[in-house]
Amino acid sequence: MELTLHQKIESAGHKVYGSVNRMWPEKLPILEKDEAERAYKRLIAKFGKKKVWSEYSNKWITEKKSVMRRRKRGTKTWKTRVRKCWLSLNGDTNSLSKGWRRLVHDVSHYVYYFRFPNNSQDHNIAQAKIEQEMAQFVIDSGWLDGKLKSKPKPKPTKDEKQTSKTKNLIKLIRSWERKETTAKTYIRKYRLKLKRLRPTMRLEDLII
Ligand SMILES: [Zn+2]
Repeated sequence: MELTLHQKIESAGHKVYGSVNRMWPEKLPILEKDEAERAYKRLIAKFGKKKVWSEYSNKWITEKKSVMRRRKRGTKTWKTRVRKCWLSLNGDTNSLSKGWRRLVHDVSHYVYYFRFPNNSQDHNIAQAKIEQEMAQFVIDSGWLDGKLKSKPKPKPTKDEKQTSKTKNLIKLIRSWERKETTAKTYIRKYRLKLKRLRPTMRLEDLII
């Protein structure tokens, strides 16, 4: 049976997905949050680039995709968005729905939308190719061997602990000294205002 062009493209896409699936080793390691965040940022930095024509500078420029961030509740700090499904902290680390495979799949979609914003088709050969390149990059970079894991911090010595406590106390003292100065300034200012308003009145006479 003759395949239509669309079917041909689709089946080529499926072939790439098949090869992506076979690229991953049998047993994938767990993926922790710090590691997932680093992997996400580096994949976006590496693959999230495209050439666009700039009317302004009249030449082709490279546009870079940024990582998604969200504000930490109740604070002013922004945090990189790490999806829960990217983590696989135990047992079933091989499934498509979480861990390394899910992270690479999701990030390849983000990059695909960025590079081809007008293409509405979710899964096609271009997206599959990006996913394939990314999976290869992850494997080649040694990320599955723990290259992106956080190094355990060495325990601070007694001296270091003391120094950091001292620094903190000095910081607190300075901060309250500044407040003391401000308070004194305001007290002087309001006393003066009161004096102008009621020249003969003394603060001690005041009954509230
Ligand atoms: Zn998908």
